[in-house]
Amino acid sequence: MERATGVNLRGLRRRNSALLLGEIRRAGGLSRIELAARSGLTQQAVSKIVPALLAAGVLTEQRQPAAGVGKPRTRLTIRADARSAIGVQLDRDEVHAVRTDLLGDVQARASIALPRGYSPAEAVSAIGECAHRLHGDGLLGIGVGALGPLDHRTGVLRDATNLPGWREVPLRDRLTEAVGLPVLLDKDSNAAAFAHGWRADGPVPATAVVLAGTGIGAGLLIDGSVYRGPRTNAGEFGHTTLAFDGPRCACGRRGCVEVLHNAAAGRGDPAEAARLLGIGLADLVQVLDLERIVLAGRAVRGAPELYRDSVAARLGELLPSPHWQRVRLDLDELGRDLVAAGAAAEVLAGFYEDAAEPG
Ligand SMILES: [Zn+2]
Repeated sequence: MERATGVNLRGLRRRNSALLLGEIRRAGGLSRIELAARSGLTQQAVSKIVPALLAAGVLTEQRQPAAGVGKPRTRLTIRADARSAIGVQLDRDEVHAVRTDLLGDVQARASIALPRGYSPAEAVSAIGECAHRLHGDGLLGIGVGALGPLDHRTGVLRDATNLPGWREVPLRDRLTEAVGLPVLLDKDSNAAAFAHGWRADGPVPATAVVLAGTGIGAGLLIDGSVYRGPRTNAGEFGHTTLAFDGPRCACGRRGCVEVLHNAAAGRGDPAEAARLLGIGLADLVQVLDLERIVLAGRAVRGAPELYRDSVAARLGELLPSPHWQRVRLDLDELGRDLVAAGAAAEVLAGFYEDAAEPG
């Protein structure tokens, strides 16, 4: 029983540490009183964790002139340069990497083109080279957003479609060995969703971040956090069927959203590609009761307004009740950095939990 209590207290401390750092980060700085009010923690709980975060060099405090006659307040801010993280997108034709500060803001970038049908060794070497170029002080680790299917808990890439030689590849462990830093592996679309959750100002609506690039995936923010499913297979929206007797898809099925969308985009018809995506997304809204869709990825970046308007038109047309089933539709603003920035933020989120731990 003793042991169970200890574990719970430690878990609580980690959760509170992440909660407090998250509130300070989003607000850009808070007094202890504001911090207690925003986080819902007692002032006593706040005062237990803040000294550890100050001692770790993660927070700084500045005196602020008192408003009126009260005691002067001190304002707590995150020391952005105290730590950094590298985030990587492993795509079908390139590695794109960023280094972020402790707030998750991108400080530097590096990219390397990959040959068609590249091997795991080529991927490891390209990611290692990017990490070498971006190396800086206080580096916590590397987050990688990769093509699925993969298992984010074991860090194993299962069977990347269109990439021969990629069956059950322990990518996380191979990278850890190659770069000598902790590595975290997630699906590219999940990292994209994480990036949007990280940047949200308040409560996160039920959101799909749709990544339409070389493939199509959807990262899902459900009940405030990324929903990956028990096998990291949630959000495989690109391989849902639009036309059961349609053209054969790389996944083996016919008429998937991805194969139809990419065929239209490939013959230079982005309007049709966007229309097909919108039809698929209306189904996704129906299944998950989505409140928000964010359109992202290379295909969208090529014709952003066209995609936004076309998807909005399909949702208006296909959802049974546009009155109460209203969906906010946004274009992603992180552009090419989206997946890499999200993967780096996943590394930072892990550190936010650990930051108040001694040593
Ligand atoms: Zn498919």
